[in-house]
Amino acid sequence: MLTSDRARPRDEAVAVRAGRIAFVGSAEDAREWVGPHTEVIELSGRTLLPGFQDAHVHLASSGLGGLQCDLRAAAAPAAYGELIRAYAASHPDEEWIVGDGWGSDDFGGPMPTRQQLDAIVADRPVYLETRDAHTAWVNSLALERAGVTASTRDPEGGLIDRDDAGAPSGTLQESARRLVRAHLPEPSAADWQEAIRRAQAELHSYGVTACQEANLTPDLFEPYRAVAGRGELTIRLEGNLAWDSALETEQLEGLLDRRARGTVGRMRIRGAKLFQDGVAENFTAAMLEPYRDAAGAHTANAGLSMFAPERLARDVTLLDAHGFQVHVHALGDRAVREALDALEAAARANGRRDARHHLAHLQFVHPEDLPRFAALGVVANVTPLWAVLDGYVTDLTLPFVGERAAATMYPFASLARAGARLAVGSDWSVSSPDPLLQVAVAALRRMPDEPGAEPLLPAERLDVAAALEAATLGSAYVNHLDAETGSITVGKLADLVVLDRDLAGAGPAEIAEARVVLTLVEGETVYASPEGRPA
Ligand SMILES: [Zn+2]
Repeated sequence: MLTSDRARPRDEAVAVRAGRIAFVGSAEDAREWVGPHTEVIELSGRTLLPGFQDAHVHLASSGLGGLQCDLRAAAAPAAYGELIRAYAASHPDEEWIVGDGWGSDDFGGPMPTRQQLDAIVADRPVYLETRDAHTAWVNSLALERAGVTASTRDPEGGLIDRDDAGAPSGTLQESARRLVRAHLPEPSAADWQEAIRRAQAELHSYGVTACQEANLTPDLFEPYRAVAGRGELTIRLEGNLAWDSALETEQLEGLLDRRARGTVGRMRIRGAKLFQDGVAENFTAAMLEPYRDAAGAHTANAGLSMFAPERLARDVTLLDAHGFQVHVHALGDRAVREALDALEAAARANGRRDARHHLAHLQFVHPEDLPRFAALGVVANVTPLWAVLDGYVTDLTLPFVGERAAATMYPFASLARAGARLAVGSDWSVSSPDPLLQVAVAALRRMPDEPGAEPLLPAERLDVAAALEAATLGSAYVNHLDAETGSITVGKLADLVVLDRDLAGAGPAEIAEARVVLTLVEGETVYASPEGRPA
């Protein structure tokens, strides 16, 4: 048993009473807690851990993706084509084909075109987002329905990719996705509720007992309230209300109203989420130095700051003054700096409180900004599965950024050494929600099933204990749940996970192979694998 409690990191047995941990100690002493109605779960060779907490996940939209045209099972153009064709054939009544889960790295260079998609489905409009949800691939009919033509200008914070003649080529970046997305049929409230339940069940199967819904947009609010209100939300959910860069500060009223009505069942609303930039693969991550072109020459593009720095400082100060926990999507080193500057301005204006503001993803952090996390009390919400030398990094990122930036990618160990508190988010459905895989990759900086692969900046590895602590107690801290959860400590809620093997002394690769057999929330089973069910 690994506890994430530094006072006693390992122990043998736990007793649970009325949903709380009543005892932690030796197996022998635990016998005193066994009465006639006690259910005894023998660990014998298995491992008990505190429930994992996902500090950044898109729960509802991940669940919805499973109900739509889901491309996650493919990784090549031909395979995508087969999935899209099969979905279209099995959903003849759907007016639009909507889905997500493709990767721009699978097209081996330039983005796919509308003509490629027309060759798969031409008689209905098609809208397909990437796994990272920053790019949409559309067919000609979708562009036509949306009225997007050669004369349509790029919206603020977005790009319409174009062919040599200036016509839309079939991919839309960032806010340009909205030009077509606005024409999609809305998922119904029932669809969203089903999506939330499905996604929650999947997280429980990975041992996740609490999470931070990273982008609780207005359309998700009532479906979440309904599920939570009926007591069907078994996961602890911290909702982050979306703060939209396309709207002005009048949106505050709506956020305050939803926060006031959003504490229902296991749902709490404390956070507001802002996107400060995009992603490096489409050159929208906001960088201190401009991107290079394929030949290594400087370009004029240094990425997109979704909020001008002065506006970001104003909005963050406003949100902080109203007691919101501010959660900023920041990948580029300029976005990180602008977000830290804004949080510093907020602290200066409003004074410091136990706010636990956090920056998510942190692909590039300038060395001078590393100590600012601890100094400002800002949590580093990292996404371990991105810290590998995959196609996104080697083909789509490293050739286009400078050497200094390249040497600061996903600086987990540097952040920890600089005193930052770490939390772990999956960004599911961008990446797998499996926290054991995240812990393994944080410790290896390569995928565990590729032992020969070169690690990405191995000096930035975390040790397994630190990674496990970040994925449990660290995420519980940013979820404002650490007083009640996040470690196996007497008095805390019994949110617990049983793994199928003994992890004592296990290396990262073995951790990635472990499977969850039982997940408990307040002592109640929310997931049991066939071998985890009591005999
Ligand atoms: Zn996200």
